[in-house]
Amino acid sequence: MVFSRPNTKQQQLSPESFEGAAGIYVHIPFCQTKCPYCSFVSYQDVNANIKNRYMRALRQQARDMSKHPWSRARKFHSLYIGGGTPPTVDMSAMADFVTACLDGFDFTAGSPRAPEITMEANPNTVNKTMLEKSIEAGINRLSIGVQSFSDAMLKGIGRKHSAQDGIQAVKYARGAGFTNISFDLMFGLPGQDLESWKKSLEMAVELAPEHLSVYELTIEESTPFADQVRQGRLNLPDEDATLSMFELAQEILSARGYAQYEISNYALKGFQCRHNINYWENGSYIGLGSGAVSCFSGVRIQSEEDPQRFINMIKMQQKPFKEAEFLPLYARFRESVIMGLRMTKGVSISLLEKQYGVTPQKYYGETLESLLKQKLLEEKDNRLRLTKKGLLLANRAMVQLV
Ligand code: SF4
Repeated sequence: MVFSRPNTKQQQLSPESFEGAAGIYVHIPFCQTKCPYCSFVSYQDVNANIKNRYMRALRQQARDMSKHPWSRARKFHSLYIGGGTPPTVDMSAMADFVTACLDGFDFTAGSPRAPEITMEANPNTVNKTMLEKSIEAGINRLSIGVQSFSDAMLKGIGRKHSAQDGIQAVKYARGAGFTNISFDLMFGLPGQDLESWKKSLEMAVELAPEHLSVYELTIEESTPFADQVRQGRLNLPDEDATLSMFELAQEILSARGYAQYEISNYALKGFQCRHNINYWENGSYIGLGSGAVSCFSGVRIQSEEDPQRFINMIKMQQKPFKEAEFLPLYARFRESVIMGLRMTKGVSISLLEKQYGVTPQKYYGETLESLLKQKLLEEKDNRLRLTKKGLLLANRAMVQLV
């Protein structure tokens, strides 16, 4: 089955157009069920009343934050609604929230083009009404948590949707007018072999999304999967097998015109995710909602995670923050290097020196020399970046630069 890609004029803006601009991340902490590998802030079985009150609180927080002097002095390039599963809330309330953001913040960075407004969705939450309301609200990018096109794999990781739901979701999204669709796919799943992974990748490219995020399953502490690993009950592929899966993704996706622009992310020309690039470039962003993180002016703020407490704090006109951390200059430098190296273009040595007064060579000394010698990193045209081998073994390199 082949779905043709619609003709679209959407283009990615050059990063320079966004200098000094910021992004907004919005957290919707509700899911239909909790996946056994998930460590995100998300709650299942939350009633509609709490969700509606949450959306009202979120709208209020957006209004309050848009009046903050920091926000008033800034232009914004992207709004990313993640979770959790955003479409589990009432979509009219979601539309009101997006409107409050568009009214309150100056989204003209990169003007005259529209800001990138992404919403995450799971295949079984995508339906015509939800999509039409999303488009009306101004959402112009849909990130679908497909994860796999194998029903056996989906069942093994506790997902409540089928491969067919994923295919149907794309059809509906195209029908509603979405011209910028991303898929999340996962590899290294219990019982997965290279053949099964190949089929998922091939199905994904047949559906022709503009963007793909391809992640290895990671076992996070305090999840049911972590318990199963400890008890030896999870049949995970070994390291060699997952490395082969990573390479197979590179091979199949590049052959179909998807450029790998970050370790786990691939896009057709002009469809790199602006919001995520801002994050990897260590740019500023505001986090709205419970469990969201904000990072600007050298300060990282973690919001209250519990949605009920978040609602109450907003109601009582308190800042819904749990903790704030001032990041010393060199900590920011290291973050900029580590996050920036995730992108295939790497980091600009002269820009780092301009921002932090030190180059990676001076700061890391022999550690960096050794990574260059091992051919995990390379220096070219005043940029430092992971080699092909380094992309494969990124963790090995990063752990030495933290
Ligand atoms: S749908 Fe996503 S956020 Fe929700 S429980 Fe599953 S992995 Fe976590």
